[in-house]
Amino acid sequence: MSDTISRNDPCFCGSGKKYKKCHSDINPKSRAALLLKLNRAIDDRIKGYQESTGYVPPCHSGCANCCFEDFSITEIEFELIMRELKSWDGKDVERVYNLALDQCEKMKKERPYDWRNLEKNIGGTDTGAFKKQLEAHRLVQRNKFPCPLLDTDTNSCKVYDSRPIVCRSFGTAHTSTDESSSFEVCEHIPDSRQHAKITPNVEDLQESAWKFTNIETPSGQFVFQRAYPIYYWFRIFYNRTGEKKAQYNYYDRPINFNQTLDQANRIISKEVNLI
Ligand SMILES: [Zn+2]
Repeated sequence: MSDTISRNDPCFCGSGKKYKKCHSDINPKSRAALLLKLNRAIDDRIKGYQESTGYVPPCHSGCANCCFEDFSITEIEFELIMRELKSWDGKDVERVYNLALDQCEKMKKERPYDWRNLEKNIGGTDTGAFKKQLEAHRLVQRNKFPCPLLDTDTNSCKVYDSRPIVCRSFGTAHTSTDESSSFEVCEHIPDSRQHAKITPNVEDLQESAWKFTNIETPSGQFVFQRAYPIYYWFRIFYNRTGEKKAQYNYYDRPINFNQTLDQANRIISKEVNLI
């Protein structure tokens, strides 16, 4: 698939496995590969910090409080989750779709204001749209229902290896803004400033994601891709194809997986008439 990595080389993701036995379906220079490498960098920083300092945050398996938070992820993050769902039984995938669609109906009925905000067509080059969405999440804070990918029997993530950036870093790391003012992160982490003293800062890593989660036109202009809550992404994907299946192709083609980031940017820029 690529001329820069052979099938027997170590995989770009850092797993130590051979490329052909790991992510051979992903171009090492694609958007998906960049995200996988970033995920590894975040995990390594958190693990390295915990091992060298001995500090361990209150987050532990079995605590799923943050899975009830109202938060958004980018399309490529959701597509990596979809890639993992490919290995599931089709009935289980359908079940998650149904759960997510049901959560959308709940939102529509019980929180029409937040629902309208999700339905609003904002994005493009308007960075203000992102702030609006973040503010909406902050106001809502928690949902009555958990992430549709939470296994509620064991309180564990069903797609742990493919979990989004925020799920990797929330509680186990911090951003520098946390150091300037204090707030309650969750019921187990009452003081964000104190928490910053026992967790590594991952702000630079999180920020580096926006360069490949968004679209850069050949002229260097960034077109921001809107992030959505996980339950809403399932609705988008269902509406796109009418199927409750594991699917991760951008507009039915694997642009984010098979093409290099530059190629993908050019193709998408053309499709949405930016060039
Ligand atoms: Zn790999």
